[in-house]
Amino acid sequence: MMTNNFQFYRRIVRAILVILGVTLPFIKINGNHLLIFNIYTFEFHLFGLSLQINQFLPLLALFLFFTFLFLYITVTFGRIWCGWLCPQSVSMELTSFIQSFNKGNLPVKTFKIILLYALSVMIAANILLYFIPYEIFFDRLFGNEFSKGIFTALITLGTLLFLNFWLVRYKFCATVCPYSMLQSILFDKHTLAVWMIPERRDECINCLSCVKVCSTKIDIRQGQNSACINCAKCIDACANVMGKLGKKSLFAYRFGEENKKRFTRFSSTVSLFLTVISFIIFILIAVSTKKVQVEVIPYQKFLPRYIHDFAANGYVLVIENGDNKDKTIAIEIEDLSGYEITPNSIFKVKPKSKEDFTFFVKLKRDLLENTPILNLKLKIVNKEDKTSEIKNISFRRPITSRRSKK
Ligand code: SF4
Ligand code: SF4
Repeated sequence: MMTNNFQFYRRIVRAILVILGVTLPFIKINGNHLLIFNIYTFEFHLFGLSLQINQFLPLLALFLFFTFLFLYITVTFGRIWCGWLCPQSVSMELTSFIQSFNKGNLPVKTFKIILLYALSVMIAANILLYFIPYEIFFDRLFGNEFSKGIFTALITLGTLLFLNFWLVRYKFCATVCPYSMLQSILFDKHTLAVWMIPERRDECINCLSCVKVCSTKIDIRQGQNSACINCAKCIDACANVMGKLGKKSLFAYRFGEENKKRFTRFSSTVSLFLTVISFIIFILIAVSTKKVQVEVIPYQKFLPRYIHDFAANGYVLVIENGDNKDKTIAIEIEDLSGYEITPNSIFKVKPKSKEDFTFFVKLKRDLLENTPILNLKLKIVNKEDKTSEIKNISFRRPITSRRSKK
């Protein structure tokens, strides 16, 4: 007799998801979180990689990867995400005890409400940990530097989740969820979904077990419904009923009503191809993206001037260190001799910080006799990473020939 197979596997999947969901924000690789978007530094931490919000290309590649992955899964496997993996439906199952709220007496009702609220706040804290590094989150809630902002976010999100878990529940999946609305566009006649097996329709004894257990309160016997989240409760419920008659469930996961698998059809193949390509591109870009970004801009407050036998120009070196370690940057001018860089040509930058350094280049004034502007190649050497790059900078002849002392 077939009994509740899919719900057994859903429970296992749910347990794995809960463990992953709770532990992921605490795991670090190379000093970076495994998976968070840090709202303090505007950085994505993804599997040990750290991507800043202004790193357009890797973020675009990442966005495209998730878009194509989403298209592939939806076109091929329908709402399997909704019924098995979506945080909303996982939370609904974790808080299903509230559905029997009206059946209890006052102490039981009070206990259920307190338990639901406590669970909601814990889930809210778990969600916030994907945006606020756990070190900051716990320090600002329980340490010396109490943060009203984090506390307010926690209580507000916890209360919204509480209302969602208590009052909205699966209505969200069947009505307002944008993913559900996209299903009708992306589905085709070979997409995986829960179907009543057409050739066995006549065996239905109209016990309504499948309707009673349905998460979104639909009657899938009437045909496909965009509110179905593929949770398979109807399959198991019918299996229980039919099992007593020595038969199998009248419902099943099928690739279209006729259950013809077409994994190589155009929409599946193209979306899978684009998913793989965009993932490879993302990895290549992310790995090759420099952790230290350097810019050189003219120092506007310092007009080019002569100092004794030298002409001097001022610049600002902007160094953004996205790494977790100190960085030492040295500068020199390529293919030129007889110049000076003051006051420093070596700069140290702390981890995860952006600093501006002013420096001056002095050249022998003879070099500017025949030209108002010299194009210099500034070599920027990253000492720790043993990498270097060249930035072109313009060195301007001072407007006045008056000698000034610095
Ligand atoms: S019809 Fe079946 S699979 Fe769809 S939501 Fe209802 S119980 Fe879940
Ligand atoms: S559970 Fe099965 S037998 Fe009962 S009404 Fe639903 S389809 Fe018919």
